[in-house]
Amino acid sequence: MATSTATTPTNLLDLDREGMRQWFVAHGHSAFRADQVLKWIYHQQQTDFDAMSNLGKPLREWLQQHAVIRAPAILSEQHSSDGTVKWLFDVGTGNAIETVYIPEPNRGTLCVSSQVGCALNCSFCATGAQGFNRNLATAEIIGQVWQAARRLGHQRNGARRITNIVMMGMGEPLLNMPALLPALRLMCEDLAFGLAARRVTVSTAGLVPAIDELSSAVDVSLAVSLHAAEDKLRNELVPLNRKYPIEQLLAACARYSKGRIKRSVTYEYTMIDGVNDQPAQARKLVRLLQQVPGKVNLIPFNPFPGSSYRCSPEPVIAAFQQQLMTAGFVATVRRTRGQDIDAACGQLAGDFMDRTTRRERIRLQVAL
Ligand code: SAH
Repeated sequence: MATSTATTPTNLLDLDREGMRQWFVAHGHSAFRADQVLKWIYHQQQTDFDAMSNLGKPLREWLQQHAVIRAPAILSEQHSSDGTVKWLFDVGTGNAIETVYIPEPNRGTLCVSSQVGCALNCSFCATGAQGFNRNLATAEIIGQVWQAARRLGHQRNGARRITNIVMMGMGEPLLNMPALLPALRLMCEDLAFGLAARRVTVSTAGLVPAIDELSSAVDVSLAVSLHAAEDKLRNELVPLNRKYPIEQLLAACARYSKGRIKRSVTYEYTMIDGVNDQPAQARKLVRLLQQVPGKVNLIPFNPFPGSSYRCSPEPVIAAFQQQLMTAGFVATVRRTRGQDIDAACGQLAGDFMDRTTRRERIRLQVAL
């Protein structure tokens, strides 16, 4: 039987540069074809092989039979009054994920999802409350960026609408390493999006072994969702803490920043009224971070249906920030954006079927 005639076509969005080079070679073509095709896909946003004029006709025809360039389809696009854009993407079998674009005067940040739902069940997060369905494929992760770039009129060498990418959408990126790593490489790859590594941030709830794995695989920025300075409270807010307590997590952060110049870890801290926002908790946080310094990003809690938490009052957030700054830390308050279209942190819920029962979710956490 001739090779691969009956197989499903390869989605080229699943392959980073090295993967695509190997794919071309495995099929008897030159590796440099990968470079040409990558440029068509990511610089020209071309999906039609026939338009790839620097490839010979036989290769174009072969690609048409054996490959596709397929990003998730856009189900809806919502524009907030503050310029934030939110897309809902179809990822098949009735599931949908969300991606958010946040324009600011000097930059444009795209917040990308890594999973359909999330298994970690953090008590203050809408995605967690929805349950977990599955991991996204590389094509579905980078496809969010590809679609957003196309819709925003992003040009590689002109209007660079997307200057930063944060893996802070739905899901725990470090629980989806095999698909995440090629997507991160494509974000930084010159032949694709070409972003500087410090402008690509992976946010994690604190999966310690995967932080080390990430560190040795790619060079991107790391954000850690801390939210509490003591294990008892963090166990409640981020159940994963029972598996990887704060001390282990901070040790992993220290290993990550070591040897990376200007690449300190960012600690995310969601401000929840009466839960983690008291002056004594700020003092604990200061003491804790003296061991492993980094920036602190305070995120006003965003409410969602069914949650009993409230956001800390504005003066409480300001006082907490001041305590951190007095101790010498860089502490910023994340401005809430896109609230009128439910696009703020922790509000991304997409639309999917939870495939885990509550009991399974607890089992998943214990097995992590
Ligand atoms: N799973 C990853 C990335 C997704 S969440 C992580 O935990 O880091 C991105 C950030 O938004 C995290 O810091 C998360 O804790 C925070 N977040 C989640 N729900 C929130 C809410 N309701 N209000 C404010 N921030 C929230």
